[in-house]
Amino acid sequence: MRRTKIVDLLQSKEFGKQIIVKGWVRTKRGNKQVNFIALNDGSCIHNIQIVVDVPDFDENLLKRITTGASVSINGELIESQGSGQSVEIKAKTIEVLGECDPEKYPLQPKKHSLEFLREIAHLRFRTNTFSSITRIRHAMIFAVHKFFTEKGFYNIHTPIITASDAEGAGEMFQVTTLNMDSVPRTEEGKIDFSEDFFGRSTNLTVSGQLEGELAAMAMAEIYTFGPTFRAENSNTSRHLSEFWMIEPEMAFYDLDDNMDLAEEFLKFLIQYALDNCMDDLLFLSKRLQEEEKNKKADERSMELIEKLRFVMENDFVRLTYSEAIDILKNSKPNKKGKFNYPITGFGSDLQSEHERYLVEKHFKKPVILTDYPKEIKAFYMKLNEDGNTVRAMDVLFPQIGEIIGGSQREESYEKLTGRMQEMDIPEKDMWWYLDTRRYGSVPHSGFGLGFERLMLFVTGMSNIRDVIPFPRAPKTAEF
Ligand code: ATP
Ligand code: MN
Repeated sequence: MRRTKIVDLLQSKEFGKQIIVKGWVRTKRGNKQVNFIALNDGSCIHNIQIVVDVPDFDENLLKRITTGASVSINGELIESQGSGQSVEIKAKTIEVLGECDPEKYPLQPKKHSLEFLREIAHLRFRTNTFSSITRIRHAMIFAVHKFFTEKGFYNIHTPIITASDAEGAGEMFQVTTLNMDSVPRTEEGKIDFSEDFFGRSTNLTVSGQLEGELAAMAMAEIYTFGPTFRAENSNTSRHLSEFWMIEPEMAFYDLDDNMDLAEEFLKFLIQYALDNCMDDLLFLSKRLQEEEKNKKADERSMELIEKLRFVMENDFVRLTYSEAIDILKNSKPNKKGKFNYPITGFGSDLQSEHERYLVEKHFKKPVILTDYPKEIKAFYMKLNEDGNTVRAMDVLFPQIGEIIGGSQREESYEKLTGRMQEMDIPEKDMWWYLDTRRYGSVPHSGFGLGFERLMLFVTGMSNIRDVIPFPRAPKTAEF
């Protein structure tokens, strides 16, 4: 007989049926007559209750059933006597698959801090919080592919090791097989990468965009969904050194089409979570409310599910960077010197404190900012007629700030190479990228959604290290 998953047992009404259930013991309680085991197998947030008639079992066997132990139970599905659950299992035979020493097991049946759980990331899947996040993460991965598949986009695998360092999206991790103890040098004393594995200097990619654009120039609508790496020493709750990014790239899309797609995409993902992850969302919502009990009323965030619905029901506000700067410049926190980075005027780079002010305080809705000064954006963004701003768009979300960054791309060979010269980007390494503008160039657009930023929003968690199983961050690569 094969095991039945707890998620299916809890739905079942086949009382009297013989079943096998396997999982990990969350708690065991009871008395000399009867024991109750709360069992979880990862298939849902709920445990199933196993009823054990103590006199029917060997005393030593029952002693080995402790929190954290894994067991296989053969029993009968029965209607629950207690409240709170509809079904339970009356155990016939119990096999302990793996014991778990309760003296040494780091996960006690009580609330642990998220900081502590990060130190035992190899075990934190066994908590309700992380099993919920893991299930939602899976649902969101699936929803990403569903959304694009239904729209006729093709998924492209772009390289993880790259020789181009011109993406301009941040510091890169070097990939090399050179011997660090005796690095080969050129006559000028520089590192001789011609002796390295690829015969040149290579890095881990910061974005799949440039290769994505190559594919879009034939397949029209594509997306990538892969790991990206940034060696920035930023120890924030919104940055990882290794994160997953979804990057659609579309031929024949202008900036408005790009914004429409980004908004539709985010709403699709959030609706998918509401439709498919409600048990886990309810659990996380309760958890969040518990955590925020001690905060002042005006510092508490909106209830999680209400917040997700709120985003679904509202159009995102669209305005230009210049309009945003005017709002920020005249805002109370700016006038009172409350921003860490005061806004002086056009040209100021926006920090997350500014992004969150616009979203949470001023508009109280998600915001898409467009037409940023060219100086603070990448070389490939399409120049506006004013010659100063580019057709960039950043989608800003409550609690997070920037969740999506994108743009209409510069399709003109002359303008693109002009920007590259201004920004000191060597054309010779980028010949393949520039070829797309030489041969049948078309207007096109794309954006990047940081998958873990989406996960932060959907789960209501506040630290990005808690929405990826094994976070990579400065000085953090244990598991
Ligand atoms: P930020 O200004 O927030 O550092 P960015 O402008 O450097 O982000 P982009 O290069 O535009 O980011 O990357 C596209 C998207 O990838 C961002 O909108 C964000 O959702 C996500 N992202 C960027 N950097 C990180 C990171 N270090 N960790 C997790 N997600 C990230
Ligand atoms: Mn960005």
